[in-house]
Amino acid sequence: MRRWGNAAIDLMAEYLASIGDRQVYPNTSSNQIREQLDEALPVERSDFDAVLASFRDTIIKLSRHNAHPRMFGYVQAPGTAIAAVADLLASTLNANLTAWRSAPAAVELERLTINWIKEILGYERKAAGLFVSGGSMANMAALMAARRAKASEDLLSKGARSLPQEMRLYVSEETHHSIAKAAALLGIGRDNVRTIRVDERFKIRIDDLTAKINEDLDAGHLPFCVVANAGTVMTGTVDPLIEVSRIAQQFNLWLHVDACYGGFAVLAKSARPLFDGIDKADSVALDPHKWLYLPVDCGCILYRDPEAARATFAQEAEYTRVIAQEAEEAFAFWDYGPELSRRFRALKVWMMLKGVGVRALGEAIEKDLACARHFEQLVQASADFEMLAPVELSIFCFRYVPAQFKRALTSADESTRRKINDELDSLNERLLVELERDGSAYLSNALIHGRFALRGCVMNYRTTLRDMEILLSDLRRVVSRIELTL
Ligand SMILES: *Cc1c(COP(=O)(O)O)cnc(C)c1O
Repeated sequence: MRRWGNAAIDLMAEYLASIGDRQVYPNTSSNQIREQLDEALPVERSDFDAVLASFRDTIIKLSRHNAHPRMFGYVQAPGTAIAAVADLLASTLNANLTAWRSAPAAVELERLTINWIKEILGYERKAAGLFVSGGSMANMAALMAARRAKASEDLLSKGARSLPQEMRLYVSEETHHSIAKAAALLGIGRDNVRTIRVDERFKIRIDDLTAKINEDLDAGHLPFCVVANAGTVMTGTVDPLIEVSRIAQQFNLWLHVDACYGGFAVLAKSARPLFDGIDKADSVALDPHKWLYLPVDCGCILYRDPEAARATFAQEAEYTRVIAQEAEEAFAFWDYGPELSRRFRALKVWMMLKGVGVRALGEAIEKDLACARHFEQLVQASADFEMLAPVELSIFCFRYVPAQFKRALTSADESTRRKINDELDSLNERLLVELERDGSAYLSNALIHGRFALRGCVMNYRTTLRDMEILLSDLRRVVSRIELTL
């Protein structure tokens, strides 16, 4: 075991030390990977060194490198060495965090780290919470609790068909699709998800929210929940949480805040005021595997009222009955979330928070925000790029616009503008593909006012202001290559 471990840790150190020298994305195909990996089901054992060599030469080589300082795609954390070690130790202990009696110290550690996260957010001290696989699961758990809490019938016993009214949920146009997916899975129904318009800064419009709630009330429906975003994935926008909470209170709605992307930015001083009002939420979904820089998987759901969660998830099965124990030791996570067997996610959260501390974390997040703002300034000062959305956190949406197009866009008539915009859409789409192939930086895309945007998200303590300048020069280099082939 020591020999395996030492070899693996050496490989980890080499990998992370050279991370910035790699191509962010491999030039490969499904066939090429299968050719290297596929083989018959192993009957006999292989030598560990050979297995590790395959990991190094095939799996590492043909992966996207999420820890690379210019990996700007999606909302992707880099992972950290200390958390990788924590995962190794967690798997060694193999604690199963179903309930206190199954994993006494591990369950206490999860309770402690959840309390720390509540403190980071300034959330209700009596709130309950737990780690789940990710934000999608956290959002689903929140909607389950919300619906049960606001249903007019005993929903869990009688099922949705017992409801005399449609239960309606309100989200902005910019809300993550995991909410609509959860609504579909839970039998709320996608048609009962009302989409609220956003303003020019991509924030939920309170007037439209109120209008749609009133419309539904007039039609005899039951409005039950509003989802506010604390960092959208398209543009990084934070909804006005205090205003949304007032509407929730006025109409007796469950307020769920999806803070999966943005939540931990509360640690950065310059972003903190955006999160005012998050303490008023009935539930908050977070992703420590995003801005706590942790490796997947680690989502987190917090419920302001522990009883609302218990009433949703507790089952009275004989095999889950806790025999002859005091209240603290009778505690079971299965009463607060959908899962039974659960891995020891809290260990990496604990090791990260202990090993790094929230001061350095806040500084790293502040630096990510500064990188995005720096890029926005570079684009605004350029003759050949333009921003498509304001930078609020660390997401930047922009596009390439050759100078002659930029000029034409300001003067041309509507139909000419549409033609130019169509051309810019396809030009930028090609640019995205070519940038990926080039390998020095990686972006993803977004649709902004119906137009194709290049989209980046800075979520990596390795990324520097200089990387933002490199990104722009990478794009220009790739542009010159595309235009040559036109
Ligand atoms: C990432 C994200 C999700 C989904 O979380 P997963 O961990 O990928 O399941 C939901 N909402 C927002 C705002 C996110 O950023």
